[in-house]
Amino acid sequence: MSIRILITGGAGFLGSHLSDRLLADGHEVICMDNLFTGRKVNIEHLFQNPKFEFIRHDVVDPFKAEVDQIYNLACPASPPHYQYNAIKTIKTSVMGMINCLGLAKRLNARVFQASSSEVYGDPEIHPQQEGYWGHVNPIGIRSCYDEGKRCAETLCFDYHRQNGIDVRIVRIFNTYGPRMHPNDGRVVSNFIVQALKGEDITIYGDGTQTRSFCYVSDLIEGFLRLMNQDETTGPINIGNPGEFTMLELAENIIDLTGTTSKIVHQDLPSDDPRQRQPDITLAKKYLDNWEPQVPLRDGLKKTIEHFSETLNLGKAIGF
Ligand code: NAD
Ligand code: UDP
Repeated sequence: MSIRILITGGAGFLGSHLSDRLLADGHEVICMDNLFTGRKVNIEHLFQNPKFEFIRHDVVDPFKAEVDQIYNLACPASPPHYQYNAIKTIKTSVMGMINCLGLAKRLNARVFQASSSEVYGDPEIHPQQEGYWGHVNPIGIRSCYDEGKRCAETLCFDYHRQNGIDVRIVRIFNTYGPRMHPNDGRVVSNFIVQALKGEDITIYGDGTQTRSFCYVSDLIEGFLRLMNQDETTGPINIGNPGEFTMLELAENIIDLTGTTSKIVHQDLPSDDPRQRQPDITLAKKYLDNWEPQVPLRDGLKKTIEHFSETLNLGKAIGF
């Protein structure tokens, strides 16, 4: 059955892949975005599709649309971008969530919140399970993002308990793939762009901190399974349990690109989590045995291909 779906942050990295998938499944998509970190180039291939509509709007301001489902993805995701205007970031998470939940209440629609592994902060348990309440600095430079995401989860549960709103919450672990913003400062895009340009590869700190990287198609499959099942609201971790140090990531990218770039070390930003790895037991249990299919090196190859094409075409920054 075809339904109408609102995606806030739909012109971003994940939002554009979600738009592709929902349209391919036959649905109508309204993509709302203020284009802070999102780009029209991510969705330009959809402009001719009569089932796709783009609206430039800020989620902090209330909005109306007649839809059956809402995916709330609006929020800058990379540390340099979310720290650029920290007050705006927390407003986006909190007021954007209130606006989505208010709209869902009026429409009786289901709301999906793109939460983050950042709700666990710099975790003291490893791997991270959904039952872990986290270790988050409430006043640090990452707090605008971490606490914003935590508050958005609280709002989902309060609207759920108080008003019966149908919510689904995913905690996304580091995801990468084509259409990441080449200048957004996240580690995978930074390393690939640096390698392709023959520039130094910047490892922050000694490079022993870990992350677990999920390829975008695996994540989007998890999104749809979570949104379209009735057993749980979440929160549910979606991510790839394969855990790598930043040094290992850099070495893989150097190997796959064949670059002459050298590794250099720079200061580690404050509150940078030491380690991160999702426990995906709940995802397997509730999401029809969901688990990632794309190993790191395969996903990196596809991402390198994408960056190499777009950088050559000068399309990386987009319009
Ligand atoms: P992204 O920066 O590419 O996308 C975010 C989108 O939200 C952009 O298109 C941006 O322009 C838009 N946006 C930002 N503020 C807005 C506002 N006030 N009003 C309207 N639109 C606004 O990042 P992404 O990786 O695609 O992340 C999408 C969502 O997933 C975010 O909520 C992010 O916090 C969450 N997430 C992503 C990851 C990841 O690894 N990619 C990990 C954890 C959580
Ligand atoms: N990082 C790095 N070099 C870079 C960018 C990031 O070493 O050029 C490190 C960063 O300090 C962190 C890890 O890579 O330890 C992941 O950073 P990212 O910003 O991608 O995501 P997050 O810290 O939000 O998980």
